[in-house]
Amino acid sequence: MAELIAAKGIQTAEDLLYHLPFRYEDRQNPRSLDELKPGEMASVIAEVRGTMLLRTRHMPLFELTVGQGRLALKCLWFNGSYLQGRFHTGQTVALFGKVEPSRSTSNLKMIQPQFELLPDASDDAETRLLEVGRITPVYESLGGSRLASRWQRKVIFNLLENMRGAVPECLPQAMLARLALPDRETALREVHFPPEGTPMTQLQGSATPAHRRLIFEELFFLELGLELKRRRMRERAGISFATSDKVREAIREVLPFHPTAAQKRTLAEIVADMRQPSPMRRLLQGDVGSGKTIVALQAMLVAMENGYQAALMAPTEILATQHFLAARKLLERSSRNYRIVLLTGSLDEDRKRANRGLINRGEAQLVIGTHALIEEKVEFDRLGLVVVDEQHRFGVLQRFRLMKKPTQAEPDVLVMTATPIPRTLALSLYGDLDISVLDELPPGRTPIVTRRVPGERADEVWEFVRKQVALGRQAYIVYPVIEGTKDDQPELDFANDTAEAGAAPAPEPRRKTARKGKTAELFPTAMQEASPAAKSGLKSAVEMHEKLRNGPLAGLRVGLLHGRLDADDKEVIMRRFQRGEIDVLVATTVIEVGVDVPNATVMVVEHAERFGLAQLHQLRGRVGRGAARSYCILITGPRISPLGEERLNAMVRTQDGFELAELDLSLRGPGEFFGTRQAGLPDFRVANLVRDRKLLEIAKQEAARFASPSAQDMNVKAEGSEAERARVWSRLKEAWQRRYGLVEAG
Ligand code: ADP
Ligand code: MG
Repeated sequence: MAELIAAKGIQTAEDLLYHLPFRYEDRQNPRSLDELKPGEMASVIAEVRGTMLLRTRHMPLFELTVGQGRLALKCLWFNGSYLQGRFHTGQTVALFGKVEPSRSTSNLKMIQPQFELLPDASDDAETRLLEVGRITPVYESLGGSRLASRWQRKVIFNLLENMRGAVPECLPQAMLARLALPDRETALREVHFPPEGTPMTQLQGSATPAHRRLIFEELFFLELGLELKRRRMRERAGISFATSDKVREAIREVLPFHPTAAQKRTLAEIVADMRQPSPMRRLLQGDVGSGKTIVALQAMLVAMENGYQAALMAPTEILATQHFLAARKLLERSSRNYRIVLLTGSLDEDRKRANRGLINRGEAQLVIGTHALIEEKVEFDRLGLVVVDEQHRFGVLQRFRLMKKPTQAEPDVLVMTATPIPRTLALSLYGDLDISVLDELPPGRTPIVTRRVPGERADEVWEFVRKQVALGRQAYIVYPVIEGTKDDQPELDFANDTAEAGAAPAPEPRRKTARKGKTAELFPTAMQEASPAAKSGLKSAVEMHEKLRNGPLAGLRVGLLHGRLDADDKEVIMRRFQRGEIDVLVATTVIEVGVDVPNATVMVVEHAERFGLAQLHQLRGRVGRGAARSYCILITGPRISPLGEERLNAMVRTQDGFELAELDLSLRGPGEFFGTRQAGLPDFRVANLVRDRKLLEIAKQEAARFASPSAQDMNVKAEGSEAERARVWSRLKEAWQRRYGLVEAG
């Protein structure tokens, strides 16, 4: 058993205590069957009256009839043969599921409810005590029926009994009193075994004082760790860059346009940091097309004018090259003779060696590259500023470190991201980064027209693409997979509808399907999407490239770009598209990040329902970069999940990246929103960043206060007794080592 639950991440008694119920059943006052309303999620307790296995044409259907006095309720399970023999007339059973509407109210049903047989007089007293006549916790199974809810209730109950009065507190009393939160032991006890009369809505919403205490605790230790990292950074020795008229003039020379107000403001924030003697760690957040590059370039000029080197790291070769060409063009306007070099993995060895030499001797002032900047053991002469573009592609930021000579001061770091992280979240999560937001697009943009088109009407789309090409424009057509199944494309993180439907709280029964018969009609969406058939049938870039150029787009210059091409080929194709030698680029999401082709005015996405919101938004950001009107056409497949619908509607409704990000966050939940590759994103055990945003803010304030009581008020003593503070620190270390795994040495 220990092994089984260890596989779920539960290794200690504490882990088990923090494995909270995912819902509760009110078994204090069971509901009467005649109170049930069609459409609601309900929990009922009733007596088994009879069972039946119906053999339909499609599958065996298990039917359970339960009753209370003269009232009855039917429950159905598809493929339910396994349930035969599980129920016996006269047993009491607790059921939880959606009440299905029915023609007559006397005839309500539940489809595939969760169930639990309740103990009777023959069971031991403890089992009866935990299972009936109370608010009962329901746990996610830790593996099989042996480790289901009933087992967990017993083990956790006994654990709490054995530890009565001995659960160590890890937060100062004064803090708990101020926030009106219960102590740790009480919180743990009540979250598992809520006292009689606790409001069910509070319980289901994780909003009882017990829940809030545990959530706060988790968020507090996250925030305290971030706060300390940030303080430590402020104590490190960095470079104080000077800004003089000479520096300003150098910038003015190369600026090709008037910066927007937002660009001016963010640059001022960055430069203010650069002047400080401690190293800058700043995130520049701005929607696609908001003009982050020029802001970064200006910051790099400040470093260069101060006699330091600046480096810009891009996530792909295409982007690095694009930045390199653009920067070179801009710097040509300068009266200074800056030397700028490109360093990517695909350069030949001689070139790489030569460029490394230029960097090492300080002869190159501006270095633009990919990961090769880290991997190729580049040693800078005087590195002053590092700009990391589109950090979400790099994975863990914390591990990032550019090779430098050991005697040097810490360079400043500016991270640019187009992932519009809702501001409150960003502030609290990137506690070790300061944040600047570019919240304004450069002038002269025409809004992008976004339309949904069902797959059957794709021909009209191809016709439209032809017309745009005839006008001299270019188009992208994007597919979710390279070829074959989606499994062959690890670079993709498009929304997986199977997983998503599984996570949906209450699968909607499918009303109108092509199949005939009762069972087909009742078949829940979730099951249908989970079937293997739903996974196949995706069009792929390779296949459609062939089809389109020999069919609907014959005569146009159609290119193909995907992640499996080698770097040189990718680059050649991208360059040809940039130069207008390719009219239509059939691609996968490799084009998602950052490529700037202002003449491209059409973005077609096939199977758009399969992509995540963030991805769709990034893809759409590839067009609308010039003055001409641009179009984003979302072609959909035959089956769209409810969440897919919401994403598509949102795309049509708005172009605001932050609004879409908020929605994305609430649709997907923070884990998926940020993705596992995201920098230092913790895996919470009780907190939920969407639901608990307010508590996150409070935790942040409390962490700052705890870390430096005197900073706020010289008269306030450090919070808590010495013993309490010691416990907080040791708890912090433990939490960060075990939970977040991003503790840095020192
Ligand atoms: P992103 O934030 O997505 O990296 P870019 O920096 O690539 O955006 O800028 C998008 C486009 O807008 C580029 O073609 C750039 O030259 C242009 N641009 C940026 N700032 C301005 C401005 N202030 N006025 C006009 N055009 C601008
Ligand atoms: Mg960019």
